[in-house]
Amino acid sequence: MTVRHGREFLSIPGPTTVPDDVLAAMHRPAIDIYSGALIEVTASCLEDLRRLFRTRGRTYIYAANGHGAWEAALVNLLSKGDKILVLESGRFALGWGEMAAVLGIRVEVLPGNWRRAVDPAALEARLREDKAGDIKAVLVVQIDTASSVVNDIPGIRKAIDNAGHDALLMVDTIASLGTMPFDMDGWGVDVAVTGSQKGLMMPPGLSFVAANEKARAVHQQAGLRTHYWDWTARDGAEHYQKYCGTPPEHMLFGLRKALDMLFEEGLENVFERHRLLAEAVRRAVEAWGAGGALEFNITEPSERANSVTTVLTTDGRDPKPLLAYCEQKCGVVLGIGIGDLGGRALRIAHMGHVNAPMVLGTLAVLETGLVALGIPHGEGGVRAAVEWLGRSVPA
Ligand SMILES: *Cc1c(COP(=O)(O)O)cnc(C)c1O
Repeated sequence: MTVRHGREFLSIPGPTTVPDDVLAAMHRPAIDIYSGALIEVTASCLEDLRRLFRTRGRTYIYAANGHGAWEAALVNLLSKGDKILVLESGRFALGWGEMAAVLGIRVEVLPGNWRRAVDPAALEARLREDKAGDIKAVLVVQIDTASSVVNDIPGIRKAIDNAGHDALLMVDTIASLGTMPFDMDGWGVDVAVTGSQKGLMMPPGLSFVAANEKARAVHQQAGLRTHYWDWTARDGAEHYQKYCGTPPEHMLFGLRKALDMLFEEGLENVFERHRLLAEAVRRAVEAWGAGGALEFNITEPSERANSVTTVLTTDGRDPKPLLAYCEQKCGVVLGIGIGDLGGRALRIAHMGHVNAPMVLGTLAVLETGLVALGIPHGEGGVRAAVEWLGRSVPA
């Protein structure tokens, strides 16, 4: 017997739920790529991406997933043999660094703890040692989707400034943009990358890079530039050049709609919705944790992300049967642990097109699974989430 018939709910940290209005906006015939509506859609999306990143720099749209944006940022700025510093706080910055190593970039990792955010003091100390200015760029993620940590980007900028270092600051906002504040210019971020399929509520397949003036000056000297990713080529006057080929036009109509939805709700409201729903998740996890079998991966409460929550199984238990129960019996697909947390964590996504019933329903299904499998857990997780929302969302 199952209770899964009905709409399946995907609660993995990307891709996320695509709103029906975004799906509908993409459901149209192909159109001309040299004239008409598409030209305006490109211009308005590039402009609105600047609004989203909060930058007066340039934005670029790639027909690629987030890894494409990673590569775009690297090859537009660096040369073979350049050195970069990757700030570990989970899996994703490391992955970005691994990609750089394949390109012939020298990669140093500032070791981090998967249960804590990047320590700006450790970064400052490392940069102070680099008297020759060997390190060309510092790479960090705002939210690491494996550990579910949120890093303090202004604090990281301050560490670089305190050290008097000239390295570019490159930030991966793939799991954070559209879920929490990001202020590229205000925070002194030189390059930011993001993807379509997380906070931006789109299918996977588009990614975006923003570059400020400093980055665009460095770009002129970059030795790794290749035609497809090249910013200079994409800055050309022809619409065709903006994509180095046929524009991913259906995706662009979807993006236009997704951006409209974000701005209609208001970015501040979008961030507050994420904060409220994330805290509801945290209240539930906190309550369940009293049973001893589950705990937050991120130990410091202020470093827990508002887009995804990684929960560890603490008694050596493989979370697979619990995830299988949620999916096969109840129709909720939760995220698995990845990287070092494979086989000992699950991830609850709460980003993008999510609301109270989606998140409360997910929590209730998880709690159902804990009961069904006899996994020790504290009582009242769902009740704690409900109490939080009931007190925080005024009548
Ligand atoms: C999902 C994700 C990526 C990778 O994006 P893809 O679209 O899978 O290439 C990179 N960084 C972060 C922080 C992510 O969450």
